[in-house]
Amino acid sequence: MTGLHEGILQRDGKTRAIVTRIPAGMVTPDNLETIARTARKYRVPVLKITSGQRFLIAGIAPEDVSGVIRDLGPLAQPESAPCVKFVQACPGTDICRYGNQNAIALARAADGQFRHQHFPAKVKIGISGCPRCCGESHTRDIGLMGTNRGWTVLFGGNGGTSPRFGDVIAQGLSATEALDCTERLMEYYRKHAKPHERTARFVERIGMDTIKDDVVSMMPYVGV
Ligand code: SF4
Repeated sequence: MTGLHEGILQRDGKTRAIVTRIPAGMVTPDNLETIARTARKYRVPVLKITSGQRFLIAGIAPEDVSGVIRDLGPLAQPESAPCVKFVQACPGTDICRYGNQNAIALARAADGQFRHQHFPAKVKIGISGCPRCCGESHTRDIGLMGTNRGWTVLFGGNGGTSPRFGDVIAQGLSATEALDCTERLMEYYRKHAKPHERTARFVERIGMDTIKDDVVSMMPYVGV
């Protein structure tokens, strides 16, 4: 097992990889120049955009990992415990003509709210500006999906080898309510999940009826 500050050990058993932190997948020219400059400086052979809208910087020599992290600055923050791996978002109303809600603004707010919190296992958040769900909201631990009535919150979605659609927790919420709903769900998950238990398996074990009784019924904006 490779320490998180040492990068992720790669298939060749020698080189390491780092994944950038890019909330909502929004980058600036300065971000891109920092990544390009760092990749050239350390002769990084692989730059790959991931499904989570991040850059995988792979093939780093072990002795260069700390330098790459340092040079990337805020784009690469080593993690000390399971946390929110990424907040991905579709373009939403900022850009897309189909958008019902501002996905990018909510993704940035969610990243700011959850980025320093630790959880029993990694958490992925997918935010979509409309029910076409380009932000993969149905298959993320937390899914936030915009409609013309507000935000729908989904919980317990997962891809991987045992995919699961997230359960709808609440609908028609404001952005503030959607973040509050997410906070309450994640706090409940943090308190009751087993170590390394992803939200999909947690929901299956605990049961949605229990979750509704324990936490959803306490949300003042949810009619249950
Ligand atoms: S989910 Fe909707 S708003 Fe977002 S990119 Fe897709 S079509 Fe556009």
